[in-house]
Amino acid sequence: MAKICVIGSCSMDLVVTSSKRPHAGETVLGESFATVPGGKGANQAVAASRLGAEVMMVGCVGEDFYGTEIMENLKRNRVLTTNVEPVTHTKSGTAHIILAEGDNSIIVVKGANDSVTPALVERALDAIKGSDMVLIQQEIPEETVSFVSELCHKFNIPMLLNPAPARPISDAIIENAAYLTPNEHECTILFPGMSTTDALRKYPNKLFITEGSNGVRFYDGEQEVLVPTYKVNAIDTTGAGDTFNAAFAVALAEGSSILDSVKFANRAASLSVTKFGAQGGMPTRAEVEANL
Ligand code: ADP
Repeated sequence: MAKICVIGSCSMDLVVTSSKRPHAGETVLGESFATVPGGKGANQAVAASRLGAEVMMVGCVGEDFYGTEIMENLKRNRVLTTNVEPVTHTKSGTAHIILAEGDNSIIVVKGANDSVTPALVERALDAIKGSDMVLIQQEIPEETVSFVSELCHKFNIPMLLNPAPARPISDAIIENAAYLTPNEHECTILFPGMSTTDALRKYPNKLFITEGSNGVRFYDGEQEVLVPTYKVNAIDTTGAGDTFNAAFAVALAEGSSILDSVKFANRAASLSVTKFGAQGGMPTRAEVEANL
């Protein structure tokens, strides 16, 4: 069983549906309201756990009802939460989502996710050192990503950085990462002014660009490879990237080849888009293997 340590955000998505989006100063009646656990870190932890890995989450929740819900959801999905710390005087991370007029508007409040500091990571050092792979994203402070990348380099633990949401990162983080998985937009922020082909050639077998329903592109040292994803009836693509990253990390940590790992992750991510919600569609190991 692969041991994956996920260092990242935990949030609650507060989702309102309404036929009309209110203007400034206006009040409208909405149709429904739901709270859905999210955050890229927690999403990837849940996805990796469903795929059969032993998953340790390193993160923070706030001193509120959502913090309790977030913890319970992780536990329900068999994610180890001993390194998810409650932070006093801070609210849990939240995403306030309005689905109206066929589009969404989102306000993200980072809350406790800003408390995922190098000091928190140090307290989780044993868990990190005992893992086969560290999986990290960018909904936490950049200094933490930088610190984790140095730790992983020092202790020779492969780090998969999913550079989402997009922000420029240092060359040192890129060098320390074993795998980088931007989508096409994130790739342009990561490597400004560089063509996709040049970026891929610069980082053979390290840079994997996810291209939605097209699949995933990388350079294997000799040629550029596009691994097509599977054709599915896409219902909701929220969380596709999270499922891809978790599945890719699990397969690599188990020792699968890069190509087989990309195929496994494409299969998992393609299954995830056939159901509603980021975590709602995340498949189990059996579901992925039955469809490979
Ligand atoms: P993100 O969700 O981070 O923007 P992508 O949209 O690139 O990332 O999707 C990540 C991966 O999810 C893709 O590389 C692919 O494997 C899978 N995927 C996404 N959308 C679809 C789709 N419509 N059909 C099949 N697979 C998909």
